[in-house]
Amino acid sequence: MSDYGLIINGKKVFSNNTFSVINPANERVVAECPIASKEQLNEAVSAAAIAFKTWSAESDNIKAEACGNISAAITEHAEELAHLLTLEQGKPLNGAGSRFELGGAAGWAGYTSTLSLPVKTIQDDDNARILQTRKPIGVVGSILPWNWPLMIGVWHVLPAIRSGNTVVMKPSPYTPLSTLRMAEIMNECLPPGVLNCVAGEDELGQWMTEHPDIQKIIFTGSIPTGKRVMSSSSATLKRLTLELGGNDAGIVLDDVDPATVAPGIIEGAFLNNGQTCAALKRLYVHESVHDELCEKLTEVANAVPMGDGLNEDNLQGPIQNKMQYDKVVGLYEDAKANGGKVLCGGNIPDEPGYFMPYTLMTNVTDGMRIVDEEQFGPLLPIIKYSDINDVLEKANGLETGLGGSVWSSDIERASDIASKLECGTAWVNQHGPIAPNVPFGGVKCSGIGVEFAEEGLHEYTTIQVVNVTKV
Ligand code: NDP
Repeated sequence: MSDYGLIINGKKVFSNNTFSVINPANERVVAECPIASKEQLNEAVSAAAIAFKTWSAESDNIKAEACGNISAAITEHAEELAHLLTLEQGKPLNGAGSRFELGGAAGWAGYTSTLSLPVKTIQDDDNARILQTRKPIGVVGSILPWNWPLMIGVWHVLPAIRSGNTVVMKPSPYTPLSTLRMAEIMNECLPPGVLNCVAGEDELGQWMTEHPDIQKIIFTGSIPTGKRVMSSSSATLKRLTLELGGNDAGIVLDDVDPATVAPGIIEGAFLNNGQTCAALKRLYVHESVHDELCEKLTEVANAVPMGDGLNEDNLQGPIQNKMQYDKVVGLYEDAKANGGKVLCGGNIPDEPGYFMPYTLMTNVTDGMRIVDEEQFGPLLPIIKYSDINDVLEKANGLETGLGGSVWSSDIERASDIASKLECGTAWVNQHGPIAPNVPFGGVKCSGIGVEFAEEGLHEYTTIQVVNVTKV
């Protein structure tokens, strides 16, 4: 038995089957997590379907108020949730860690409460009145990853309920505890059944994508799993928003001041230990500034204290799980074996915990795994280039297209090059900033649809036109 419960129809529900959640900083068990059975998933979906009838009919004010109350409740419980998040996710309490994530979650929830779905008048004259409204879809299934579980949980749930849907959410088995607790806290602001949360391993996500009474899936995670979600959702023709992986290129032009851009590049590459979908994952540097920039990047990267995230001094935690750790170390070893030069990091501690310091590698090229594959960890390949057209082709040459960035002292020149990147967001002299009023999404295999702002809210609705003839 576990202290943590599933949240079904407003109640905490337990399960006799559990699995252990591991603290990646020391490999010890944090707690047991309940495993939802298929029957419990069905109960959650049916609670959401029943709640949809009343929640979708509630006034706009009630829905906005609930979102505002959720924002306040997250703020009230931020410290408790941040500690739990650090224990199971590994990210530090400080820096861009757990407290930052909770602040973001509360901020996004608050902003979402202010969004609205006004009725659009297409025509209103002597001949006809044609109005376009946006209606909620029904029960939304939210499938979450382990990198920013609480922030992404808010990104999934808040626009869904703000627009009148009800939700069944499923955290990643690597980080379920803080999400279950957050769902419990959110439920204090909502009628029973509007938000349900089930946890488990393996089959649960697939059961959700196949479930006939879930009408939409919002999924954040890897490209291969996104493709599976799309495939198994097709039988019931679910609406989909897929926010998938990226392999974002950053292009440094010949006119930068290396000391000025180095901190922003390190931040963009190693936000959340590099475990961010739109982190900078391939850095192309013009040959004229390559060596000096490498020096400055090394200085910045070496200055970041690494260790257990519960220690208030640390700003880098472990990689979140063993699978991911093995993947990142594998890419590092492969690059080294193929002539990659280690500028800093790489000295992987032989102690419990999945730690790897910020690692920069040069003497690497496209075609090597470290460049072509998404590392999703504290490992950045730096590729020297001489021709901007050639580098644009390389930046656009992969199946991914989430973000990208251009770094230069001339923002007009940089903006022009940025507009040629095939990606959802192209940044200039920064990489990664997002905001609740700015739509965010990927092109090509990095996703379908957008999140945030009015455009993100629209993804949780279908259009209905009421067309009245007056003649
Ligand atoms: P996955 O994409 O496999 O998992 C994300 C979520 O999907 C989890 O909740 C998982 O739960 C669920 N899931 C897995 N299979 C299915 C399925 N067939 N149908 C429905 N849901 C499913 O990510 P991983 O945790 O395995 O990480 C693998 C790689 O993904 C990483 O190395 C990284 O490159 C990338 N990644 C990208 C993220 C992003 O933000 N874009 C976030 C996290 C990872 P369960 O495992 O219980 O099935």
